Amino acid sequence: MLTHSQLAELLEEHGQPAYRATQILDWIYKKRARSWDEMSNLPEVLRDALAEKYPLRPLKHTLTKGSKDTTRKFLLELPDGRYVETVLIPASPALYGETSDRHTLCVSSQVGCAYGCKFCASGLDGFSRNLTAAEIVSQIILAEELSGEKVNNLVFMGMGEPLANFTNLCHALEMITSDWGLNIGARRITVSTSGLVPQIKKLAEFPRQIRLAISLHGPDDETRNKIMPVNKKFPVADLFDALRLWNSKKNQKITLEYILIEGVNASVEHAAVLAKRASSIKAKVNLIPYNTVEGLEWVRPSDADCTRFKSVLSKAGVSATLRLEKGHDIDAACGQLRLKKEKGQLAE
Ligand code: SAH
Ligand code: SF4
Repeated sequence: MLTHSQLAELLEEHGQPAYRATQILDWIYKKRARSWDEMSNLPEVLRDALAEKYPLRPLKHTLTKGSKDTTRKFLLELPDGRYVETVLIPASPALYGETSDRHTLCVSSQVGCAYGCKFCASGLDGFSRNLTAAEIVSQIILAEELSGEKVNNLVFMGMGEPLANFTNLCHALEMITSDWGLNIGARRITVSTSGLVPQIKKLAEFPRQIRLAISLHGPDDETRNKIMPVNKKFPVADLFDALRLWNSKKNQKITLEYILIEGVNASVEHAAVLAKRASSIKAKVNLIPYNTVEGLEWVRPSDADCTRFKSVLSKAGVSATLRLEKGHDIDAACGQLRLKKEKGQLAE
């Protein structure tokens, strides 16, 4: 899968007229062709030449967990035999995007992750590779095909650090938001990052109103350093400078993601510091009680402690949500399903 301009260039190399680009994009995104053979208005030699290099279905569906009414998790096989996960969340709460009652898809951007946050399954096995833009976009096309539902909210919160795969992310965003592509509104798309400062500044220049979520998980350097190695490189003060720059370019609130972990970051003192931080950039906060990961020792706080944490934020005038449990039973926290598959713990 290519962007409009990449495709136009390629067609020129093949001595083809420019209107072929529109024809091909129409087949891929509107008619959802599964193979180049279906593109009956293209010359056969061209179809054959492109089919060899640009498979329309680079991902193979391997396994679905969950049911139609609940969170569904798709395990997808890449051409090199590796796996990624995509999670479809029906009628999601209005955390990202504008309306509730929508189908949110959570896509992966890399196989594994190099950032090694200490609570996260994706980082456990290290980093394998970036996903191509086509592999990112294919997750959406495949999820729509498998579910028969239209994805109208998209979050880059699956496996991987999207901002560490910057070029492919931007190409994918172009394919997703353009009217020649999937035509999903930029305001319905949230990119989540552990806080890569230079790339946040670069993404602020992206010409569409996409949303930004920050995996904060600690309101100060001391707390954050304990669980997120990335903070040593980009400390909290630098991160918030970048977020102020983001705010100056985009007119939507940033979301601060905050996993609550017992004895690490979940005290009322932490909540008070977090409230100040969030207010300083007019961000909203999404609280997530820690999801147990096999092999990791962290513990989720009691419901009462989570609620108390939230009320400190609310009293300080910070808008906060405490995420309803969804997908906990199907290993929906990022990276968990793929890890089991690769360790041979999943029945086919
Ligand atoms: N790398 C990016 C995108 C992945 S998002 C980022 O970190 O923002 C994956 C989200 O799931 C992040 O907010 C991450 O912090 C969260 N997460 C990871 N492990 C988790 C766990 N065990 N319980 C709850 N949330 C978790
Ligand atoms: Fe990577 Fe994000 Fe998991 Fe950290 S939380 S290890 S950055 S996927």
